[in-house]
Amino acid sequence: MTNEELWRAALGEIELSISKANFVTWFKNTSITNNSSGKVIISVPNGFAKEWLENKYNIYILKALRNLQPDIKEISCIINTPKEAPTDSSPNPNETDESPATQEKTDSPAIHSQTITGRNHSETNLNSRYTFDNYVVGEHNELAKAACYAVSKDLGTAFNPLFIYGGVGLGKTHLMQSIGNEVYKKNPDLNIKYVTSERFATALIESLGNQTISDFKNYYQKIDLLIIDDIQFLSGKEKTQHEFFHIFNALYQLNKQIVISSDRPPSAISTLEDRLKSRFEGGMIADIGRPDLETRMAILRNKAAEKNFFVEDDAIRFIAESIVTNVRELEGALNRIIAHAQLQNKMADMTFVQQLLSEMVTSKRNTHLSFDHILKIISDFYNITPEQIIGKGRKKEIVVPRQLFMYLLRTELELSYPSIGDKIGGRDHTTVLHAYEKMNNQLSQDSKLKEELEILKEKIYSK
Ligand code: ADP
Ligand code: MG
Repeated sequence: MTNEELWRAALGEIELSISKANFVTWFKNTSITNNSSGKVIISVPNGFAKEWLENKYNIYILKALRNLQPDIKEISCIINTPKEAPTDSSPNPNETDESPATQEKTDSPAIHSQTITGRNHSETNLNSRYTFDNYVVGEHNELAKAACYAVSKDLGTAFNPLFIYGGVGLGKTHLMQSIGNEVYKKNPDLNIKYVTSERFATALIESLGNQTISDFKNYYQKIDLLIIDDIQFLSGKEKTQHEFFHIFNALYQLNKQIVISSDRPPSAISTLEDRLKSRFEGGMIADIGRPDLETRMAILRNKAAEKNFFVEDDAIRFIAESIVTNVRELEGALNRIIAHAQLQNKMADMTFVQQLLSEMVTSKRNTHLSFDHILKIISDFYNITPEQIIGKGRKKEIVVPRQLFMYLLRTELELSYPSIGDKIGGRDHTTVLHAYEKMNNQLSQDSKLKEELEILKEKIYSK
């Protein structure tokens, strides 16, 4: 197989595993320039594509290549100027303006420059469903809610930047968008933009490809309220961070409001540029924890009422007691109960809820828990590859995630020590036992590690 054939076949597979917009953005004008002794070198058009391919898409690429040629062990990217890159290697030569990928790009400022000054609601990217009014406040989110509310009343001065962090499904997106909706309601003329950090990066690279980077920067620098969700995805993507830093600074100096969210505090985002970290730390940082039982019940009552549906009080309590991980899960369970009750024309009483929930819990455990699933969560979280986790490397950045992985295989999958050893690169069962005991011990002393384990568990059970 020639390099070209190999890459074309691999792209065919990669295309199936990621969204079309991402595929076109990151894999356009790429090719294999070298393939020898298990190492494949991929030529990419710029440093952004290099970062994203090496960090985020690394696993997909390796998997696709290995399916075709099992001895491939690693990949790396080199930057090639567009002129030198082969012109026929576009991943999708049939791309037309009508394609879904292009439609998905409609919120890209770079492409629709005519809408840059337009301020219609769709351009803000806000979902009007998320408001302060329907956000239930408890001890777990009191501070975050107060900070967000203050910001919505006093843009750019109260707390700037405002950094909100907390685990999956605990209400970060809801709260941040509430700021946007509140500000929009009072002052629709302001430029408000909600964007995920991934979407931000994709738009950035598109603008590079179209040579509209200055439009892109201009667009962002005119924003009055910029809400960036899930900033942890920029971890390790230095060039993207660099551009973000400049936009951030420009806005900050003009007293424009910036709100950022992440699944962990700035200090725990391992490869975040120091100057970004200290910028974030210079503003207001508020966390969102897990809601307590009373708050979970209040959220359920609230959501049921929104849907004009009555659930008996002991059933509400039962749901709230059964689902403790996060609010998204709680809401999912409630929606399912409502749908089934309506379908079967039944009351959502204790018996009904108990039965439905027990079915849900078992099917969830079976479908979501697997070795690969946990491996992927750890790999994404610590920004290291699955190969590194399973491999022999002894650096601390790899050893701790590896030991946590073994620990989780034991506690969550209930695998035996020998079988964990077998699965992780043929290690002896005593090594696994040692890792397990060490983690167990450390978790009782090290609160940061404990927090990380909680986040990992949340991710494991919520995907
Ligand atoms: P995150 O961004 O932290 O992952 P989301 O904001 O997407 O979480 O919240 C997940 C779901 O839970 C959303 O539907 C949101 O409306 C709901 N939710 C979370 N916290 C609350 C709350 N305190 N009150 C009402 N709904 C909430
Ligand atoms: Mg979110």
